[in-house]
Amino acid sequence: MGQAEFPRARGHADVRRWLGGALTRGRVSGAYLFAGPAGVGKSLVATEFAAALRCAAPAEGWSCGRCNECRRVAAGVHPSVRVFAKPADKADFPVELVREICDEASLKQLEPGRRVFVVQDADRFNESSANAFLKTLEEPPPDFVFVLLAGNLAEVLPTILSRCQPVRFAPLQDADMAEIARGWEGLPVNPQARAALVRLAQGSPGRLRAMAEAGVQGHVQQFLATVADDPFRASEVLVEAVHEVDENEERRERLRSLLALLSASLRDRLTVALGLPDVLPLTAAVAAEAATADSLVAAIGRLDDLRLRVDGNANLKLACDAIALAYPAPAGT
Ligand SMILES: [Zn+2]
Repeated sequence: MGQAEFPRARGHADVRRWLGGALTRGRVSGAYLFAGPAGVGKSLVATEFAAALRCAAPAEGWSCGRCNECRRVAAGVHPSVRVFAKPADKADFPVELVREICDEASLKQLEPGRRVFVVQDADRFNESSANAFLKTLEEPPPDFVFVLLAGNLAEVLPTILSRCQPVRFAPLQDADMAEIARGWEGLPVNPQARAALVRLAQGSPGRLRAMAEAGVQGHVQQFLATVADDPFRASEVLVEAVHEVDENEERRERLRSLLALLSASLRDRLTVALGLPDVLPLTAAVAAEAATADSLVAAIGRLDDLRLRVDGNANLKLACDAIALAYPAPAGT
């Protein structure tokens, strides 16, 4: 009876093949830098790679996912595989944590075989934390592999970058994203709205997960239920949704996803108004759509303009007001 395998990242076959090839040829480097968009799967692949470096029965140069070594690595309990990350309340990777990493790396190994340290947020090192790291990164102890992760390669300090073998992670295809998100709660059921969010996540499952957890779909429904009677109340719904997060860029991203859903819902109504209701299940209210196709097209155009303003530096409160005022009320509400 075969055991189930540990969860693997979807996509990134080229990265696996390349790392697996280095492993098979015995050409594993002492330090890698995995670079690619946040939430794209770098951590999962780093875990698979660490498991492959320890695996008792590698399959085609990669982790089997079933042996005791693989399972302990995946569960995060292997003493030879450690993961470090910048504390959430710190802007930079703290130099104290770097010293801890280097001290621990210099300790004697408990179990034979390779040791792997995964270091997240490699794009958040400052000069002093980078300097504290350089010597260990350049000459790791024998049988030691560092895997650094960075969301933004451009922000990795050159002193770090030059000591690592870079590995690029491409955004996932929309089809892979849709497959990963199958069964997730909090995403729209309507295929067009769902596809709009998947596109907005730009190939990052982590980003899509954040949208699902943010409950953007619920906010949009609340907006639609309110906008006919009271556009200003509807605007407040958006403002509140946006202010659930603290950082300005996150707020902008939240508003982008709300706008994408609102725009998708207008496109649905346009389909109906044009008499092409082959795409979706219709509610009586939507079927009784009074808005003409022309006014819907105009509204979609206005929302597109507003999206550009959100991408730029528009005041988010004013943008929410403008969205609520531009949005044609659904018929029958
Ligand atoms: Zn294994």
